[in-house]
Amino acid sequence: MIIDTHAHLDFPDFKDDIDDVIKRAKDVGVEYIINVGTSVGTSVKSLELAKKYDHIYASVGIHPNAASNVTADDWSRLEALAGQSKVVAIGETGLDYYRDRSKKEDQKRLFHQHMELAQKHNLPVIIHNREASSDCLEIVRKYSGRVNGVIHCFAGSRDDAKEFLELGFHISFAGPVTYPKAENLREALKAVPVEKLLLETDCPFLAPQPKRGKRNEPSYLQYTIPILAELYKLTVEDIERITSLSAKNLFGLAQSDLKPEIAYIIRNSLYLNITSRCPNKCVFCSRETAPYVKGHYLGTDNEPTVEELKDAIGDPSGYDEVVFCGFGESTERLDVLKEIAGYLKERGSKVRLDTNGLGDLINGRSICEELEGLIDTICISLNTNIEEEYQKLCHSEYDCQAYPALISFIKKARDYIPDVMISIVGMPGIDVEACRKIAEDLGVRFRVREYNNVG
Ligand code: SF4
Repeated sequence: MIIDTHAHLDFPDFKDDIDDVIKRAKDVGVEYIINVGTSVGTSVKSLELAKKYDHIYASVGIHPNAASNVTADDWSRLEALAGQSKVVAIGETGLDYYRDRSKKEDQKRLFHQHMELAQKHNLPVIIHNREASSDCLEIVRKYSGRVNGVIHCFAGSRDDAKEFLELGFHISFAGPVTYPKAENLREALKAVPVEKLLLETDCPFLAPQPKRGKRNEPSYLQYTIPILAELYKLTVEDIERITSLSAKNLFGLAQSDLKPEIAYIIRNSLYLNITSRCPNKCVFCSRETAPYVKGHYLGTDNEPTVEELKDAIGDPSGYDEVVFCGFGESTERLDVLKEIAGYLKERGSKVRLDTNGLGDLINGRSICEELEGLIDTICISLNTNIEEEYQKLCHSEYDCQAYPALISFIKKARDYIPDVMISIVGMPGIDVEACRKIAEDLGVRFRVREYNNVG
């Protein structure tokens, strides 16, 4: 499933073959298209397209290049469009100091008007920013917490990207990210967590590398996505799923297909989500607020049975590994964990358990010996080198018992599980080197997980 979050299918370039263009998009898996207005006229046409095609939605706005010519009547007409059904965003708006077709002051005034309109209708904004990052950020900052959105066809620096991200914005890259000489864009992309990335064509402009110079169209996302997958070290399917979920959430598109997943794939590993119970409430955990991992929805109160898990696993032989890891602590269901791990080992799978290391407290007995022969790798969340800090970070229901039990669990795991790793989340203030030293002293592997990057 793919979502093109920025297209201009109403432009004259598509007047002779729009049905073919839309069919080609469907054929490669483009599920939704957001058609973006750049004037009152193209906003009206965007809405007409949205009414004609179920899977097209509209954004209404006036491009900053036209800012100096916008009349009061234009603005009233745009305001009237904003409240219509199938309008999912305001824009494209923003600032363009590259083309210099409208005075900066007019552009800024119009940008503010769009932000007010977005706030009034509780819609995201689609922002065009060309060589105007500083002023653009200043305006976005003024509406921080009130207006969200996307910086479309990103062309700024890595530092600009970081600042927009800090303000909660998504970032989308069009075809130029595939151009051989666009190292600056790929450098900026490194600052963008994949969960904040959106796909767009900006068609008919900016076709990706194999079609460069030709008219762009939504089906050409098939050329951009593999490049993004390579840059993020994920699969094409991962990129499609993650960006689609983000687009659906940002633009409020239909979410009727959102089902909690008990077995989910990232790269070539299968993950099992066997419970949402956990004795901790870690400050960095989005279990209760946004239970998504790399585009998979894991929120569930229903714990799957062994049979349901086996059905969801299917044939495990093609995966690099099968991992017990969800928004919950798998040792809360030790019997199920052991039965499924045994089932997987009989079928030759490599099995990993990601755990908070509190399994002994949870089960009221030492459990590492019970995992022998069932788990190949165990990754235990250490989170900090300081006992008091652990409780501040993890808010464990076991309070001061938790950290000593965790250390004891790591030590015991070495005797029963071939590959033991401890991990921390690289949050500000955590002494990474002191944690690494604990791993070295215990003779186990060490991993720093990226803060705000789940999965
Ligand atoms: S231990 Fe894991 S599942 Fe539990 S709250 Fe912490 S991060 Fe979330």
